Amino acid sequence: MILFNGDHMLRTFRQSYIKRYPGWVNSDRLQERNKVNQLPELPTREMLEAINSAFGSWLRIPYCNNCEADDGRLVVELGEPFEYDSTTIYLCGSCLRSALGLIDGKR
Ligand SMILES: [Zn+2]
Repeated sequence: MILFNGDHMLRTFRQSYIKRYPGWVNSDRLQERNKVNQLPELPTREMLEAINSAFGSWLRIPYCNNCEADDGRLVVELGEPFEYDSTTIYLCGSCLRSALGLIDGKR
């Protein structure tokens, strides 16, 4: 289980970047990658956007797969780590509490 919040998105940015651009890159991308490699362990949003303004969208928290809330609230990743064909689900706190209510027989 992983909590997706702002810190998680910042901490895993470099890993996401390497996953998206794993191999050879053109010279523009190479300059970008060198800047990404020089980032501290926990960069700020401003540091990322200074390299590429589009990086702000990389920090977006996934939407809840149950209620489809897409308002940046915290979600928990359940199941397999996300891959192209993984079984992964993201749930917000409200949906998790509802699920626990079912298990506890309160709903
Ligand atoms: Zn939800």
